[in-house]
Amino acid sequence: LKVKNVDLSQVVEDAFNLIRDDSIFLNVEVIRHYAREPLLIQGDPKLLRQVFINLLMNAVDAMEGHGRLTVTTVMGPDGWRHAEISDTGPGISIDYVNKIFDPFFTTKSVGKGTGLGLSVVFGVLERHGGMISVKETGPQGTTFLVRLPPEAPDE
Ligand code: ADP
Ligand code: MG
Repeated sequence: LKVKNVDLSQVVEDAFNLIRDDSIFLNVEVIRHYAREPLLIQGDPKLLRQVFINLLMNAVDAMEGHGRLTVTTVMGPDGWRHAEISDTGPGISIDYVNKIFDPFFTTKSVGKGTGLGLSVVFGVLERHGGMISVKETGPQGTTFLVRLPPEAPDE
């Protein structure tokens, strides 16, 4: 890890700005709620940015380009830094919600998904002492919650 002090909200915003011009965003309403205070974490900005690129792309994929994407960052009650990515897609079936973080698990057709996105997300967060969970999923959409500690673990 190339650890620096970074603001989680800035990392999320950087990720969004790298992909926002993709035509898949044309009919997606994007709502961003960033914490007022900087959510400082110690982490590798490039790897963390990739985490949010993967989550944002999954959200837009799930909505097939139509819907509302909501991004929120907030200081958790325990001092951990939280980021939530919500979409209004179809949700994740209970049959495979426990498989989505496995490498190569995908429900997308050949050429559209490698099934590596969420396993990369999981691995990068683990290396930062953080975690990811599916906070909510159903026919109304899906919310992923990322939590990161204020200080990176020694490696
Ligand atoms: P890929 O995007 O290449 O399929 P990922 O590891 O990123 O691989 O995601 C694995 C699977 O998890 C996806 O194929 C999809 O079935 C499911 N998934 C991930 N994010 C969402 C989401 N926001 N809404 C619905 N399903 C999702
Ligand atoms: Mg993906």
